[in-house]
Amino acid sequence: MTASRQPGVLAPCAATQGASRGRQYPEPEHPYRGVFQRDRDRIIHSTAFRRLVYKTQVFVNHEGDHYRTRLTHSLEVAQIGRTVAAALGLNEQLVEAICLAHDLGHTPFGHAGQDALNQCMQAYGGFEHNLQSLRVVDELEERYAAFPGLNLTFESREGILKHCSKRHARALGELGKRFLGRRQPGLEAQLANIADEIAYNNHDVDDGLRAGLLTEEELAETSLFGDNYARVRSMNDTIGISRRVQIQETVRAMINEIVTDLIDHSNVMLAAQAPADIEAVRAHSAPLIGLSPNADARHRALKHFLYGSLYQHERVLAMTERAHAIVRGLFEFYMNDRRAMPKDHVQRAEEWAEQSGDAGRARAVADYVAGMTDRYAYSAYSRLIE
Ligand code: MG
Repeated sequence: MTASRQPGVLAPCAATQGASRGRQYPEPEHPYRGVFQRDRDRIIHSTAFRRLVYKTQVFVNHEGDHYRTRLTHSLEVAQIGRTVAAALGLNEQLVEAICLAHDLGHTPFGHAGQDALNQCMQAYGGFEHNLQSLRVVDELEERYAAFPGLNLTFESREGILKHCSKRHARALGELGKRFLGRRQPGLEAQLANIADEIAYNNHDVDDGLRAGLLTEEELAETSLFGDNYARVRSMNDTIGISRRVQIQETVRAMINEIVTDLIDHSNVMLAAQAPADIEAVRAHSAPLIGLSPNADARHRALKHFLYGSLYQHERVLAMTERAHAIVRGLFEFYMNDRRAMPKDHVQRAEEWAEQSGDAGRARAVADYVAGMTDRYAYSAYSRLIE
C-alpha cells in the first residue's frame, strides 16, 4: 500500500529550480516566488485561462450548469496531479502549472471544433490543439513588456507539449527533440498527462449519467465501474442512499482506486530504475509514471467504453455537426474579410501575410477562431453569417 512521504521533501529525480533549463528570455528571479510557482501564477492570470470557463469539454456550455467545462476539467486534472505529486515527492507547483495549462489551446466546441479548424487549415500546416496550447503560452498571450507570451520555464513547456508530429518537432528546437529521439519528458509532465486521462474518464462517467446518455447498467459492463458500483451498493443499500449519491460514491471509489495504483506502481518503477535526476528520467525510453498492467486494462476499458457510448452518442454528435458548421463558417468569413477581426488580429494577419502569404493570414485567423469561447463563436456566427 501507498507509503506516505515526508511532506515537502522532493525525490532526487523531481524537477527543481536549480536544475531547470530556464526560460526563453532570461529574467531575474523573484524574491519570494519560485520559478514554477511563477509559471502557474502566469497561467492563472492569462486571458486564455479565463476563457476556459466558456469552452466545451464534452457537453456544450449552455446545455446545463452542472457539466464540466474546460476550466473545471483543468482544475480536476490539477487536483489529481498535485495529490500524486505530493505522494511521489515530485514538484507539485510544476505539475499544477502543466495541468492548468494543458488545454489552453482548445478551440470552442471541444474536439469537434478542433477537427473543423484542422480541416480548414489543411493547406496551411494544419491545426492541433496541443501545439496550440504551446503557442498560447509562447506567443499569443500579450501581457509583458519584455517578451511575447508568458515566457514559461522549459519544464512547463515540455509538459504542455504532450504529443507532436515529427514535422512540428523539427521546428521546435530543443523542445521538439524528444519526439525525434524517443525520449521522455520529466516526471511532472508524465504525471500531468495521466492525471488528464484519470480526470476525464471519471468526470465523463458522472456527466454522462447526469445527462441521461449512459446508464449504470451499461457502465457496469466495464469492470472498473461495475466492481466499484457493486461495492458501493452492497455497503449502502441498507441505509437507502439516493441514486445520485451512489453514483458520486462510485466515481469517488474509481478515482481512489486508479490514483492509489498510479502512486504504488510509479513507486515500484522509480525504485527499480532509480533515475539519479531529471536528465536521467528524460534519457529513459519509457515513462516511469504509470499504472500497473491490471489497473491500466481496467482504466482503458472504461475509456474505450466512453469513446463508443458517450463521445459517439447521437446527442453529442448533433452538437458536433453544428460546431463544424460554425467553426468552418467563421474561418471562411474571416479569411475573406480579415478586417472584421479585432485590430490586433488584423495587424497580425497583415504582418504574417507579408512573411508567408496566405499561410500567415490563415494562421492569424485560426488563432483568432481557436481563442473564441463557445458563446462568443455562436454570437459571432449568428451576427455575421446566419
Ligand atoms: Mg484535458
